Amino acid sequence: MKTLLIDDDDFALKLLQRQMQNVGHGDVSLCVRARDAVDLLEAQPEAFDLVFCDLQMPDMDGVEFMRHLGRIGYRGGLVLVSGEDGRILQTARRLAQAHQIDLLGTLHQPVSIDRLRKVLARRATQRGAAPGTGQVAFPPADIAAAITGGQLVNHYQPQVDLRTGALVGVEALVRWQHPQAGLVYPDRFIGVAEEHDLMDGLTRAVLAAGLRQAQQWREAGLDLQLAVNISMDNLAALNFPEVVVGLACEADVALNRLVLEVTESRLMTQDTRVPLDIVTRLRLKGVGLSIDDFGTGHSSLAQLRDMPFDEIKLDRSFVHGVAADASLAAIVQGTLTMAHQLGMKSVAEGIEEQADWDFLRAHGCDVAQGYFIARPMPGAALPTWYADWQRRAGTLVQGLPAASEDGMAEAGA
Ligand SMILES: [Mg+2]
Repeated sequence: MKTLLIDDDDFALKLLQRQMQNVGHGDVSLCVRARDAVDLLEAQPEAFDLVFCDLQMPDMDGVEFMRHLGRIGYRGGLVLVSGEDGRILQTARRLAQAHQIDLLGTLHQPVSIDRLRKVLARRATQRGAAPGTGQVAFPPADIAAAITGGQLVNHYQPQVDLRTGALVGVEALVRWQHPQAGLVYPDRFIGVAEEHDLMDGLTRAVLAAGLRQAQQWREAGLDLQLAVNISMDNLAALNFPEVVVGLACEADVALNRLVLEVTESRLMTQDTRVPLDIVTRLRLKGVGLSIDDFGTGHSSLAQLRDMPFDEIKLDRSFVHGVAADASLAAIVQGTLTMAHQLGMKSVAEGIEEQADWDFLRAHGCDVAQGYFIARPMPGAALPTWYADWQRRAGTLVQGLPAASEDGMAEAGA
């Protein structure tokens, strides 16, 4: 692994070089001027697979440097080093994403050896997971065959009531049990499916399997709400409500146990009358409608105004770390207040630690979902997790007045 270190401060540069040597990465080149680094990378974009860059430099700052990396088409990893506060680093992180730069992490100066090791380890695991450059997309014909051949499987992530800890539902998350590649996550095939008109079949497969599973759980004594992600493509076919009703009937699941989560992954350029017709009819039949990834570029206030949503799903990018970040806290509190005033149920996803849980609970969010509660799991694993959760939940729901029994599933409604 050949590394390039850039910092206008010669001392900081030498220090980082020594730290790199100490963790076994001796093969480094140093640049005091970012301009020289750009020239170097421009001449040989493949020469380095890791770049450390100081964010604040007099001749060219880190933001400008990232723009050059994007232009050059640099494919290696980037680590930003800075003494700046978290907000600026976060913005820089998003900027790196926008330039499609593989940002491995940010390091505060002075750099701690532990953090350095962690960032380098991330590089190693990413390379192990995806050899070569980035993700390999699957051909649409393979995805079509997977849908018809029953290779798609659902995993389910539990959703629990934040006041009582009661299990109220699950979100179905599709996976592809690929004969060679193993378990493939949706980010590697949904995009292609959307581009090639495969979403109708895919959503139908996920819905059917989810509804069957919901019925099996009910027979085992667990009456759960099932949330299924749908694409705007699904809302282009006027018979979609009939498809949903048909599948629910077949599985013998009541329509009010079903929630459809909508994200607008692409701009809604087509006529809005058809999607509006469809979602309104679904709501009239009792199906829940959730605005997914709320607060990201995909799901906006305009959608909230125009569509009959009854649930708002706070995106993980606002939820995780909310307790320690004043900007996130303000956004989450504002959204929860708005949801409450609109009479909508609020669901927070991406809860990863107890601090997230405590914050959302204290601020009146209704439902929680995230690794802190459970990772997505095969349907058969749910009862075992649930038994464990019931033991854990007791200590997590102290300190607020208990909700009445029948208030649990309906909180916020
Ligand atoms: Mg979702």
